Amino acid sequence: MIRIATTLIGLFLLLQAGAQNQLFQPRNFQKAYTSGTRSLDGKPGPSYWQNHAAYDIDAALDPKTLMLTGKEKIKYTNNSPDTLRIVRFKLIHDVYKKGAARDGEVAPGDVSDKGVSIAYLQYDGKAIPPEKRRASNTYMTVRLGESPIAPGASVEFEVAWSYKLPADDKASRECVCDPSTFFVPYWYPQIAVYDDYHGWADAPFTGTQEFYHEFADYDVTINMPKGYMVWATGEWQNASDLLQEPVLQKWQAAHQTATVSSIWKEADLKAGQVFKKLKSHQFHYKASNVPDFCFAASDHYNWDAASVVVDDNTGRQTFVSAAYDSGSRDFYQVADIASRGIRLMSTWLPGYPFPYPCHTVFNGNDGMEFPMMVNDASVSEKSVASLTLHETAHTYFPFMMGINEQEYAWMDEGWASFFDFLLADSLTNSKDGSIRGYANVAGTDYEVPPMVRARFLSGSAYGIASYSRPQAAYLTLLDLLGYDKFHTCMSTYMDRWKGKHPMPYDFFYTFNDVSGQNLNWFWKPWFFDWGFPDLGINGVVRDEAANADIVLIDRNGNIPIPVYLSITYTDGSTSIEQRTAEVWRNGAEQLRIAGATGKSISSAVLGSRTIPDTDRKNNSWKK
Ligand SMILES: [Zn+2]
Repeated sequence: MIRIATTLIGLFLLLQAGAQNQLFQPRNFQKAYTSGTRSLDGKPGPSYWQNHAAYDIDAALDPKTLMLTGKEKIKYTNNSPDTLRIVRFKLIHDVYKKGAARDGEVAPGDVSDKGVSIAYLQYDGKAIPPEKRRASNTYMTVRLGESPIAPGASVEFEVAWSYKLPADDKASRECVCDPSTFFVPYWYPQIAVYDDYHGWADAPFTGTQEFYHEFADYDVTINMPKGYMVWATGEWQNASDLLQEPVLQKWQAAHQTATVSSIWKEADLKAGQVFKKLKSHQFHYKASNVPDFCFAASDHYNWDAASVVVDDNTGRQTFVSAAYDSGSRDFYQVADIASRGIRLMSTWLPGYPFPYPCHTVFNGNDGMEFPMMVNDASVSEKSVASLTLHETAHTYFPFMMGINEQEYAWMDEGWASFFDFLLADSLTNSKDGSIRGYANVAGTDYEVPPMVRARFLSGSAYGIASYSRPQAAYLTLLDLLGYDKFHTCMSTYMDRWKGKHPMPYDFFYTFNDVSGQNLNWFWKPWFFDWGFPDLGINGVVRDEAANADIVLIDRNGNIPIPVYLSITYTDGSTSIEQRTAEVWRNGAEQLRIAGATGKSISSAVLGSRTIPDTDRKNNSWKK
């Protein structure tokens, strides 16, 4: 045992020594480069492929029993060069199955013996018997026996299923928000991702790591009792079947104006002034090229909406909605925050047209994103902007960019945290946020480098590696490249990988390629290495030849951060000196910053709210 380990460590050091300016790449990723599915300049390779599914779903939710029942037809296309002998469905709701692994507690009453119940499963018209399918770890793996899926082939599956929604109001991500309000994700058997570097996805859903789904088209019908509205991923196809004419006109008008208006209020529903007289309500939604579909329903929620131009070149608009309880203290402003936020996202950060035709922020019990849908709890006045913006910004990552959040959550949570920080500042004209949270814990054994696969992490290690450390890295990167170059890199990354599955190296290599700089000196400490950021003022010395005082700044930590130095002179005047993290590119351990010529420095302070610095006791100097 010991000898093997020593040999491996020796080999590892040898490989590292020969490749100091290269990023370590796991051996199992290298086949993506040898087979040409990815390339070293960060573009999808000439042989890049991904599989595709088209779902036709008909489902019903019974508000009294909380039972969801559905039937679906899935057309699945194997674009890979491999013959698929199994197919793997996600049964995410099996996290509530008795015996399932879970990261947190769930209410005992919500645990079921069977999990998702499969009434039947057909493959190209033939029933697949239960012994050929195995449900474990929130997947159902089906052996295709004599009829594997050949490269290039399209096949059809038909599934009928049912399960009971978790009733506990603390259930996360989904909710029975009140007896007649539901947020329903994770609700249908969905074919898992089969990709070029891991094959079939197999990270279980245990409640922490969220998305890795295949891009798909959806044609969905949801059946509800009369009185209910359904908001869902995609565009609502049959509003005119359900809405009374004046309400239909309000809904249509809200598609034309950036000013938020009320489609209806709870009182309108109670007065019978919204829906036509029908025995039951059937909602038809369609969405194309999205990685998931969810819906929400209520018989008493208010509905505000507006439309915002997301692409000035084409005039394309996104229809933005907020659906909420009358008692919510913050949701009356959410449609406005979301639409102004989407405009800022489209034009500033990330500065890429919002990809979807609609987006609904639903007043649920969490802070949780889905394509075109968000489940947000009511929160304080102080938090409503950043929560709305965070979950809405997830539209870019992990939905438009189909990153693997179950393995590399920093590829989306880090961005959403970075976006919400700057967008909320801009929208609310405040400068409240800081990234002290990461600085306080950086370099302790509560955190690990982000390149550790997210599926191996939980608790604070997951949170820091996925949210706060990458958020700080992206803020440092923006400062390093400047907005214009950063934006060019970012939008090229999005152009290249929109609707695809970028992995970490596709991001690193695209920024290297487009910025024209080898940024590996930056990626390595921030994403691959253990360590922490810490700058300190060593002292101030006089440079008689330059007739100036020089502040000596020590780099005490290995993670490169910008320098923001506030200087006060003996005559009472002040100056600010800023340097990007570039000053540490070549491994320098000390930086000399000169004060104003002819002046003498009386005090100096390092740091700002966007620069993480673990030890702030060494950040100030007084004469
Ligand atoms: Zn998030």
